[in-house]
Amino acid sequence: MAKSNSSSATDAASAQQQRLATERRRDANLARIGRIVVVMSGKGGVGKSTVAASLALALARVGRRTGLLDVDFHGPSVPILLGLGGVHPTSTGHEIEPIEVEANLRVMSLGLLLEAGDEAVIWRGPMKIGVINQLLGDVAWGDLDFLVFDCPPGTGDEPLSLGQTIPTAEVIMVGTPQEVAMADVRKAVAFCRKLGLRVLGLVETMGTIRCPACGEETPLFRSRDAARPKDIPLLARIPFDPALHAACDEGRLADFLAGEGSTARALTELAHQVVASGHESHEANQQNQNPEGGQSLMRYAIPTADGRLTMHFGHVEAFTLVDVEDGTVTAVQSATPPAHAPGVLPAWLKENDVGIVIAGGMGRRAQGLFAQNGIQVIVGAPPQEPEELVKQHLAGTLTIGENICDH
Ligand code: ADP
Repeated sequence: MAKSNSSSATDAASAQQQRLATERRRDANLARIGRIVVVMSGKGGVGKSTVAASLALALARVGRRTGLLDVDFHGPSVPILLGLGGVHPTSTGHEIEPIEVEANLRVMSLGLLLEAGDEAVIWRGPMKIGVINQLLGDVAWGDLDFLVFDCPPGTGDEPLSLGQTIPTAEVIMVGTPQEVAMADVRKAVAFCRKLGLRVLGLVETMGTIRCPACGEETPLFRSRDAARPKDIPLLARIPFDPALHAACDEGRLADFLAGEGSTARALTELAHQVVASGHESHEANQQNQNPEGGQSLMRYAIPTADGRLTMHFGHVEAFTLVDVEDGTVTAVQSATPPAHAPGVLPAWLKENDVGIVIAGGMGRRAQGLFAQNGIQVIVGAPPQEPEELVKQHLAGTLTIGENICDH
C-alpha cells in the first residue's frame, strides 16, 4: 500500500533530523582533530593509497596521534596494505571503534565495513557524501593530531564534499611523472585552489625502478621533470620498489616502513615534511576562511618593482597584495614593507593576512621562516605582472624556473 502524504512527511523529517545529528557529531569530532591531510591523485593506480597509509604509519611513529580514513569507495585498499583482512570493527551505541593498528594509529576503511568482499559497490554521489559524514561523525576517533584521508582518484564527489565540509583540509597530490598523470594532477590542483584548500605538494611515485639486487635506480619515464607541475613543492620521490609492492600485496606495509631501505626512509621523511610544513597552516587556513559565507579567501603577496615581480626579494620596496575569493581575483593593492631585517617580512606579511608568496628567488632560511608563519612560498616565478602570476597560479599554469636565490 502506498504511504500516506503525512507518513512520508514524517519519514522525511526524521531523515533530516538524523542527518543533522550526524553532522553535529561530525563537527564535534572534527574539533578534536589538529590537521586533516587529504591524499589525492588525478589517476588511479599511481600509489596514492600506499602513500596515504605510509604517511599515516610514519606520522604515528614520530609520535603523532594519527587516524587513517580510507574513503576510496570503489576500491578501498587500506585493509589489504595493513593486513586487516577479516578484521571487523566493533560498535558501542552509535559509535564505531576504529581499529588500533599500532600505538598512535587508528584506522577506518569502507573495506572493513563492507561485506561485499571482491564485489564492486555502486554508490551515488549523495550516498557517498552521507557515508563520509558518518565515518567522520560515527567513528570514535578521539583526539588526533592528524587525520589522513585516502580519497578515490579524481575530483569527484568525495574530494569535493571533503573540501566543502573541511575547508582547513590540506592536500597532498600523488602522481607518476608522465604527462597523462600530471595533467590530471594539475587539474586537481586547480580544483583545490578553487575550493581554497592548501596544497602541501606533490609526491612523485614510480619515476624510477630500484634494482632489488644492487639498489641502483633506473628512470621509467621519458620526461620526468617536464610533466611535473612546478608551482607546488615536490615533497618526495618514491621509486618503484618491488619490495614495497610485495609488502603491500602481503599486508606488510607496516613492517616494510620499519625497515632500513631507502624507500622506507623516503616515505618516513615525507611525514617529517608534513609535520614541518604546517605548524601553523591550520591557523592560517582558518584565518583565510570567510566566516559568513564559508567561501575561501586567499591573499597573495608578490615582491614588485616597476609593476612586475622583482627577483630581489630581501630588499624589495613594495609588495603587491592580490586577494582571491572563491577562485577569482577581487582586489589588488600595493603595500610598503618595513625596513629589511631577518624575519621581519614573514611576520609583517602574516600580520597582513597573506597566505601565499610568489617570489623569483629566496634562500632556504627565509623559506623556513615563512613556513613557520604558515605562509606558503612559491619560488622561481618569472618577472611578470602580479595579477597575471596569481591567475596563472590559480589555473595551475604558472611556469616555475630556477630559484634565483638572493638571500
Ligand atoms: P592507488 O591508490 O593510486 O590506486 P595503490 O597505492 O593502491 O594505488 O597502488 C597500486 C599498486 O601499485 C599496488 O599493487 C601497490 O602495491 C603498487 N605500488 C604503489 N606504489 C608502489 C611503489 N612505489 N613501488 C612498487 N609498487 C607500488
